[in-house]
Amino acid sequence: MGVLSELVSGISAGTIEVVDLTAPLSSETPILKLPPPFADTITFGLEEISRYDDRGPAWYWNNIHTGEHTGTHLDAPIHWVTAKDGDDVSQIRPQRLVAPAVVVDVSDRVASDHDYLLTVDDLRDWERSHGPLPAGGWLLLRTGWDARSADQQAFLNADETGPHTPGISVEAARWLAEEAPVIGVGVETVGTDAGAAHSFDPPFPCHSFVLGAGKYGLTQLQNLRLLPPTGAVVIAAPLPIVGGSGSPTRVLALVER
Ligand code: MN
Repeated sequence: MGVLSELVSGISAGTIEVVDLTAPLSSETPILKLPPPFADTITFGLEEISRYDDRGPAWYWNNIHTGEHTGTHLDAPIHWVTAKDGDDVSQIRPQRLVAPAVVVDVSDRVASDHDYLLTVDDLRDWERSHGPLPAGGWLLLRTGWDARSADQQAFLNADETGPHTPGISVEAARWLAEEAPVIGVGVETVGTDAGAAHSFDPPFPCHSFVLGAGKYGLTQLQNLRLLPPTGAVVIAAPLPIVGGSGSPTRVLALVER
């Protein structure tokens, strides 16, 4: 049997599970909030064109209003100033969008420290147990933050000192960009950087280093708890928005059971 026949029979038999890592997209989907003077993205919205009525008697359809970086989405390199001449989201080669993924789970540390930052030591410890990070694959960071994803306030977790959400240390971001063979980093939070990363040096190191290296970000992922540490295959399908800096993305994981 060919490998694709085995794949489809495995999916229908349930020996390969398709896990949806995507948050539902609605006007309730949490979005990033930047402080003044920075411009912000819009909330997702539907604008009805017709619904089996005078405007279109047999059909229902909507216009959608959305930012590129709304809900579960992919950051293309060109999103950041460190990759101004990098690929836009339509230029990402499709074979890069089907890739192995590993899950590094720091949810126990995040439970007691909402500002927890993944360290290079965490990554080295993980590699000692599970082997090297996958060449051409994703590092998915599990923090447990997806439990908050239905509630904008809990998801952004901001107080008078700014947002408090977990992320990646400056050193780990540089290591993932420059040393690790991964194509990108996926997270459960609103962006790939920690809530406090506006005051890091450099600011927003994951965006700065990872996108600057021509790699990608995936954000607002869900259900990473259903993935094994190694062995999943992720299909990330952003819209090919010409000139786009990112796109809402359906992210599916194939997992052998
Ligand atoms: Mn983004």
